[in-house]
Amino acid sequence: MKCCGVYTFVRRFGRPYKRNRLNNKYYYKEAYINMKKITAILLSAAMLVPMAACSAQQPESGKEAEGSKAAESSNTSVSSKADENRETVFQVALLQSLTQGYYDGIIKVSELKQHGDTGIGTFEGVNGEMIVLDGKVYQALGDGSVKEADDNETVPFSNVTFFDKDLSVTLPKMENINSLKETLTKTVNENGKNLFYMVKINGTFQKMFVRSELKQEKPYKTLDKALATDQREFNYENIAGTVVALYCPDYMGGLNTPGWHFHFISDDKTKGGHILELAFDSAQAEFDSTQDFDMYLSDNSDFQKMDLAKDVSSAIKKVETNEE
Ligand SMILES: [Zn+2]
Repeated sequence: MKCCGVYTFVRRFGRPYKRNRLNNKYYYKEAYINMKKITAILLSAAMLVPMAACSAQQPESGKEAEGSKAAESSNTSVSSKADENRETVFQVALLQSLTQGYYDGIIKVSELKQHGDTGIGTFEGVNGEMIVLDGKVYQALGDGSVKEADDNETVPFSNVTFFDKDLSVTLPKMENINSLKETLTKTVNENGKNLFYMVKINGTFQKMFVRSELKQEKPYKTLDKALATDQREFNYENIAGTVVALYCPDYMGGLNTPGWHFHFISDDKTKGGHILELAFDSAQAEFDSTQDFDMYLSDNSDFQKMDLAKDVSSAIKKVETNEE
């Protein structure tokens, strides 16, 4: 009963045919839609093959550093947890909580290392400046010495990431830190100013003016007051080493400081600190751009009582740059 079959078909599906305006042909509606779906599935499947290959290759192409993501990357288009973790800037607390005097460590150094091999920060009681480089956490103390931080030392503020070089730039002669900031910002603007960047700058520095600070005891003063008496400054000349720099996007003003924050460690790991000024003839800068941001907070009641929306930007500028 062919006829009945067609009738049932029409009744069940209403208008079974759809006219294609382009070629004036009629297609059965559901089949037409299904074909669209099938075409879409086929297209995305066809695209997935090169995409999967691409995503597996991407970490390799721009990231030549040993121990890069390529080594840990799976061959699927879905990135593994380890990959996501490598592409994350991990932040302990806020620069605003540190600036307001919250110096209690909320994470152990051993735990911080699980979140990155490169970065900056400080230690409980602001006991020196932190430089994280090649998976080691260094503590540049207020007496000018540098030691590798104990795994049980705790951290009130830090930013770390697993460093995978995305691009490399040869920097020309720089007379001061502001010229360096401008030059690095050009590269950031070309590559996306709303991402995070961890940057390593290797070279010999004609001038390297850094500071650290003496360990604070409770009750803690605010950071600008602590630094007013307990900041120690060190001026080095012709020193070989690495600048570890963090770039935070403009919108990070409530959680950190927008723009650049530089720490330094010498090649022999005996000198370092928070950079106040520098100069060099030439240096190599390696950029790691990062799309994910992860922040770790304290559940301590003192931390919970803090007014972290309070505008402390002028105090931050003062402690970061030594400028009023
Ligand atoms: Zn610093």
